[in-house]
Order: sequence, then structure tokens, then C-alpha cells
Amino acid sequence: MIRKKFIAANLKMHFDVAEASTYLHNLSKTLTSHREIEVVIAPSLVAIQPLSREIDVRKIKLAAQNAYFEDEGAYTGEVSFSMLKGIASYVIIGHSERRIYFHEENDVIAKKVKAALRNRMSPILCVGENITERRDGHAKRVINDQITSALSHLTEEEMHNIVIAYEPVWAISTFGNEQAMPDDVEKMINEIRKQITYLYGEKVAESVRVIYGGSVKADNVASYLAIPGCDGALVGGASLNYLEFNKIVQSCFNVMQS
Ligand code: PEP
Repeated sequence: MIRKKFIAANLKMHFDVAEASTYLHNLSKTLTSHREIEVVIAPSLVAIQPLSREIDVRKIKLAAQNAYFEDEGAYTGEVSFSMLKGIASYVIIGHSERRIYFHEENDVIAKKVKAALRNRMSPILCVGENITERRDGHAKRVINDQITSALSHLTEEEMHNIVIAYEPVWAISTFGNEQAMPDDVEKMINEIRKQITYLYGEKVAESVRVIYGGSVKADNVASYLAIPGCDGALVGGASLNYLEFNKIVQSCFNVMQS
């Protein structure tokens, strides 16, 4: 089964509407489309709707950074997945910043995965251990728990729409900025596919894209993309510069050609 490569920019809480529009314009002009690579940007919620009118989705797709799992109701300050339907193709769920700063637990993350799928958006499910869990030898158990709680209630068909981002918390620039070794990333990606195989069988596990995130830059992305079973990257800090993000996409293409 061919899994299309997936390179996504998590712009986090950066860029107002005008800045996000300029970013999209510059990136679209610079980027060469490759049929084998899906390029996705996740702007802030306020920018996502205006950008959806400017974007050429054949070249770049939109992801939301978050949404609330109920479709509507008295939830002051929240935006639902159903409100983003038709605007965003993907949605980031379970990002460590949301788990840590906003106390999102596995049960909420599971509801968000369901709500995204119900509203025709593909979840980019982030999983990853923190530094203590890693030092104590619990990394595999932590990601297996995160995967099982978020994904075990889905149909096989729904599973085909899931992208899993392995993002060790200690390697994300905002938390640790440590460089994960490709060998370690490979072990964890294998573990993720093993857990999907356990839940849904090998055919589903082979169809699900598993990507890496954590201080990815143009000069190190090739070492992660060369890992067998690694289908792309979720890029935070380095994606804020469209030229750097473009180089990351180009590097992905180069790795595929080699
Ligand atoms: C992220 O926040 O998803 C991320 C991978 O960030 P960074 O690339 O800045 O480490």
C-alpha cells in the first residue's frame, strides 16, 4: 500500500489574518507541487476561514489546530468541528501543548477524534512521551495508551483517515528542543504500527500514515524521512518561515528520489 507523504506546518498562535494570508501567498508561489506529497498548513482559527477562500487545495490543504467535540451548544468560546466542516481538511488533535497547557486528557481527545471524523475532517493525532516517562522506560506504554484510548472505538474505514504524529514532548522546540535520534524515532514508529496492528490488523496498520514531529528543520528532516515507515513531518517553529518550510518539502521530494 502506497502512503502519500505528508508534510504539515503547525503555525500555532502566530500570524494574524493578514500575515497568514501573506504567508500562504508566498508559500504557494515558492512551492513546487509534487503528486506524491501532501502539503498542509494549520493557521490560527481566525485565519482559517479567510484562507480557505484563497487557497488552492490541489497544492496546499488546511488543517485546524483544535476544535470542540460537541457540534453546537452553550460552550462559550468554543468552535465546533461542524463549523469547520468544508473549511479544513485536517485537524490536529492531542498536541502536547493542548495536553499540557489545557489539560486535555485521553477521553476528551477520543471524543475530538470521533467529532472530526463525523464532520469529514481527518485527525492528525499527536502522541508522545515526556522526558520523565522516557527516562523511566515507559515511553512505549504511554504512546500505546494514547493510541488505544484515542482510536480503539473507530471503524476500519475511519482508521484510513487517521494520520498519527509521533512527537516526543522533550524534542518539541517549546518544551525541550532536544534532538531525537532517528533510531529512537524508528523504534517508536514501529511500536505505533504494532499497536494499530493489535487493534485493527496489519492491513489497516499499513494504510495509516505515521509522521514525526519535534524540532524538524530543513537541515535534519531528511534523516527522519529516511526512516522506513516514516511518512512525513509535523513542523512547528521552522514552518513559520515559508522559505524554510518550502525547503523541508523539497527535501522530502529529494529523499523520495534517492
Ligand atoms: C509541534 O509543535 O508540533 C512541533 C513539532 O514543534 P517544533 O517543530 O517547533 O518542535
